[in-house]
Amino acid sequence: MKNRYQSFGRSRNSRYSPRRSYGRSTRGGSGISVNQYIAKATDAEMPNIYVDGALFSDFKLGKVLDRNIINKKYTVPTKIQNETIPNILKGRDILGIANTGSGKTAAFLLPMIEKLMNDESQTCLIVVPTRELAGQIQDEFVDLARDTNLKSVLIIGGKSIRDQMYILNKRPHFIISTPGRLKDIYERRGVKLEEVNNVILDEVDRMLDMGFIDDIKFIISKLDKDRQSLFFSATMSPKAEIIANSLLRNPVKVEVEKQSPLKNVEQDIVRIDHSKRKEEVLYNLLCKEEFKRVLVFTRTKRNADKLSDYLYDKRVDADVLHGDKKQSQRTRTINNFKRGTVDILIATDVASRGLDVSNISHVINYDEPENFEDYIHRIGRTGRAGKKGYALTFIER
Ligand code: AMP
Repeated sequence: MKNRYQSFGRSRNSRYSPRRSYGRSTRGGSGISVNQYIAKATDAEMPNIYVDGALFSDFKLGKVLDRNIINKKYTVPTKIQNETIPNILKGRDILGIANTGSGKTAAFLLPMIEKLMNDESQTCLIVVPTRELAGQIQDEFVDLARDTNLKSVLIIGGKSIRDQMYILNKRPHFIISTPGRLKDIYERRGVKLEEVNNVILDEVDRMLDMGFIDDIKFIISKLDKDRQSLFFSATMSPKAEIIANSLLRNPVKVEVEKQSPLKNVEQDIVRIDHSKRKEEVLYNLLCKEEFKRVLVFTRTKRNADKLSDYLYDKRVDADVLHGDKKQSQRTRTINNFKRGTVDILIATDVASRGLDVSNISHVINYDEPENFEDYIHRIGRTGRAGKKGYALTFIER
């Protein structure tokens, strides 16, 4: 089938006549207009996330880190790396406005690894919204801190709290955590937040969306007052401002072009009218050759499970990722998807932030997202690292 749009509910030209095409209701419960789900990828404007002329060697990070950077195949620094690494090395606090895909993990890990390698008295706490993101940061830490003596621990829900407390007792240099479990362990006296002199809050807007504001305030209130603090968020809401103000001292503000990776994402809708079954439409799409590695979003865990049962009956191998799965299952699922053992992943929004899998060819919003921000985060899983991606949203209204 040559024309990949032909089985969709509307022709591609629909976007040029929105009034006629979408009739009565252009906005669903999400408040998103159908037009917002349609956009052409602009090849001419491939986002340049790198900085011309900048080199990692300019940061003078030392031999071990330089080698680890080469092994990661990072040839030149991204913009956020170029602007934050020298400032973090100078001891400055950072207010970073950047989303995943910008290279922000290495932007904070590299200088922190350098700092902790040279000063035994330092501990670094990283707080992130989801277990998945924590796991990804840990993976990047393992690569970037190879051949240093630095150790880390993952403090997340769904895993044995006793094991985590045991490792914490050995005073690892890096604590990579989600807020709830960290607070829990603090209250059991398993971690001394008062001794944490470096803190990184990552994806703050997401943590606030998930209702972690009190936990974050609590954690900040316990930290060593004489600390270096880094704050990263894709957007700045009034609540995020409050957190930033209570955390940071005279920060350097670094902002990278927002949502630029989405320029790479061709977005369209698939109309589901009453004559079609939604699952069948999905199945037909998944059978097409160009749908190589596909992330399908449902709004609820139940829908995700139902869909996976349906596909299973059709002999389509798809994994499911949602909050009811055990942590070990979630990790296995993400790894299988990363490795390409499974090409289709059905997920709830739990997976939409931070999931860093390269080469996702298509994101399919089987259920519409709750709001536009979730939409942006969902579709940001494709079209990464300068590659073109596709996002399709099923519309039933
Ligand atoms: P992040 O924004 O930290 O989630 O990073 C997005 C992706 O870019 C990850 O797969 C990183 O491994 C990768 N990455 C980070 N920095 C660089 C770089 N300088 N060059 C190439 N890839 C990078």
